[in-house]
Amino acid sequence: MSTPAPDGFTIQNNELTGGWDALTAVKVLSVIGLILLSFFALLASRWIAQKSFEPVIRISKTARNIDVHNLDQRLNYSGAEDELKDFANSFDLMLQRLEYNFEEQSQFISNLAHELRTPLTSLRMNLEVLNSDQNASLVEYREFSATAERGITRLERLVEELLMLAKAEREIEREPIIVGVLLEDILEEVKPIAAIHKVSLRLKGDMETELEGDPILLHRAITNLVENSIYYNQEGGYVELSCRSVQGKAEIQVIDDGVGISKQQQAHIFERFYRSSFASSGNEKGNGLGLAITAHIIDLHGGCINVESDSGRGSIFTILL
Ligand code: ADP
Repeated sequence: MSTPAPDGFTIQNNELTGGWDALTAVKVLSVIGLILLSFFALLASRWIAQKSFEPVIRISKTARNIDVHNLDQRLNYSGAEDELKDFANSFDLMLQRLEYNFEEQSQFISNLAHELRTPLTSLRMNLEVLNSDQNASLVEYREFSATAERGITRLERLVEELLMLAKAEREIEREPIIVGVLLEDILEEVKPIAAIHKVSLRLKGDMETELEGDPILLHRAITNLVENSIYYNQEGGYVELSCRSVQGKAEIQVIDDGVGISKQQQAHIFERFYRSSFASSGNEKGNGLGLAITAHIIDLHGGCINVESDSGRGSIFTILL
C-alpha cells in the first residue's frame, strides 16, 4: 500500500520502515542520534576533564606521598601559564619552605644536643677523676666544685635562653614603652658586668622616644646586645646606648669600640649557636643563641636589626622599630 505525500512523493511506508510511518522513523533515528551524540559528548568531556585534572591529581598524589624523608620532592609543573601553574608553583614554594624549616630544626636539635653534652661531659669526667682518687685533697674537691658550678651556670643559661626562644614564638603583648626608661633599666642591670670588664657605659639621645612593644622581650633583646658589647670589648673600652625618633620609628643603637666583627662573621652572627673562634675568651658562658634571640624578637615586632662593624674597629648594632 502507498500513501501519497503532499508534495507529490510517494512513501512506501511498510517497505521503508518495516511497518512504521515516516514520523516514527524520524523520531527513532533522532533518539538514536541523540543517544550516540550524548555518549560521544560524555566521552569527550570525560577526556577533557581527565586532561585538565591531571595536574591536580598529580599534586594530590605528591602531597599524599610527602613525609619528612622526601621533602625535596617538587611538582615542577611545566604546563600553560594559568591558575593551575600558579597553584603548582605555590605548592613547590611551600615544600621548599617546609624543607628549609625541617633542616633548620634538625640542625638546631643537633646543636642543642652538643651544647648540652659539653658541660655534662666535663662534669662527668671531673667526677670520675675525683672518685677514682682515694686521696683527693680538699683543694681538688674545691676545684671540682668550681668547675661544676661553671658547668651548671652554662646549662642554666642555655635553658633560660631556650625558654626565651619558646616565649618569643607566641603572640607578643604590645604596650607603650618609653625607650629612655627601658635603656636606663638595662644599663643599671649590666653595671656589675661592665665593672668587672672595666668597660664604661654611656646613654644618649632622645629619652622620650616612644614605641609599642613587648617590654619583657625587648628588654631581653637589647640586653643581649649590650652584654655582647661588654664581653667582646677590652679594658678601658666603652658601650654607648642611644635612641631617637626617625620618621615615626624608634631607632636604638648599641655602639662599642670593642674587637669588632669581620664581614665574613657578620653573615653568621644571627644564626642559632654561631660563635666566633675567639668568643669563649670574651664570654665563656655564651652559647651562640643571644643574637638569634634578639633578631627573632625584633622580627616579631615587625622591626629590623643590622650591624656595621669590622675586625678591630668596634661595632654598631641598629634596631629600627
Ligand atoms: P654568644 O655571645 O653567646 O657567643 P651571640 O649570638 O650573642 O652568642 O653572638 C654570636 C657571636 O657574634 C659571638 O660569638 C661573637 O663572636 C659575635 N659578636 C656579637 N656581638 C659582638 C660585638 N659587639 N663585638 C664583637 N663580636 C660580637
